Amino acid sequence: MPLKTSFRGINHRELMVFEGENGFSEWSPFPEYTTKEASRWLKASLEWLEKPRPEIKTQSITPNATLPAVELDRIESILSGFEHKKTIKIKIAEPGEARTLDLQRIEKTTELYPEAKIRLDANGAMTIEQSMELIYWLRQKDVNLEYLEQPVASIEEMTQLRAEIQAQDLNVLIAADESIRKHTDPFEVDSKEAADVMVVKWQPLGGISEITEIAKKVSIPLVVSSALESAIGLNAGIWLACSLNSGFDPGLATSSLFVEDLVDQLPMEAVEIELNRSRLDKYAADSETTERWRQRLTNAYQELYSPE
Ligand SMILES: [Mg+2]
Repeated sequence: MPLKTSFRGINHRELMVFEGENGFSEWSPFPEYTTKEASRWLKASLEWLEKPRPEIKTQSITPNATLPAVELDRIESILSGFEHKKTIKIKIAEPGEARTLDLQRIEKTTELYPEAKIRLDANGAMTIEQSMELIYWLRQKDVNLEYLEQPVASIEEMTQLRAEIQAQDLNVLIAADESIRKHTDPFEVDSKEAADVMVVKWQPLGGISEITEIAKKVSIPLVVSSALESAIGLNAGIWLACSLNSGFDPGLATSSLFVEDLVDQLPMEAVEIELNRSRLDKYAADSETTERWRQRLTNAYQELYSPE
């Protein structure tokens, strides 16, 4: 599925669609992921295909808008593609890009939407010093910051940064994203006080029931976000967000980053969706890609049910 603009270095998204009695499910580990990682996504995907829907606390959600690391003159048109702009997440610290561009992008966005709450997502690409500099700048500019998402890479750095913020009484929240998926577990983030908020995605964490268990055990709120999924995966995320009802706008409006999605309209509600089947045909992969994914599925399935 082609994207309107490149995102985390890709310009299209590859995914496998399963159809069962419950409807559809999506399996979309990123191409570079290992079999082990992909098998966790598969566990989530099969659970969504086969298990009943989670109990919900609210019927609908308001998602945040997401701004990729784009040129300044494209900000307005990209954000106008999002229906809800109460909370805007801006991607920052893109590798190879000057830091000043981040600041310009933040300034431009707050000029356009002065009422919006701003989330900044660095994907772990900054140092503690760079994070502190950014925090001082944000305060100076009076930016309405909701939280800083994964500013630094490791849990140790996150803990250190958070302690520094508290020591200086800066009142800035830190959200953990990659820290709770890559090589580590959510409970470590919680126990080391590395974050104020946890970003959760239903596929990378192995499914909705896994996240429901995490929610029961950790002391900080969970924010549901997408892994750049199609409407099928987003719909599962919406159900999850409705069941958690954490008070933070979930990052589930990423459908508008696609040229077009697999539904005509994705309701931000815990409902079953109706796919536009002609789009499934339209975006069907070529035989080589299909073969590659079948092999991937075989490997991931094997890893899941008979790991060595
Ligand atoms: Mg993130």
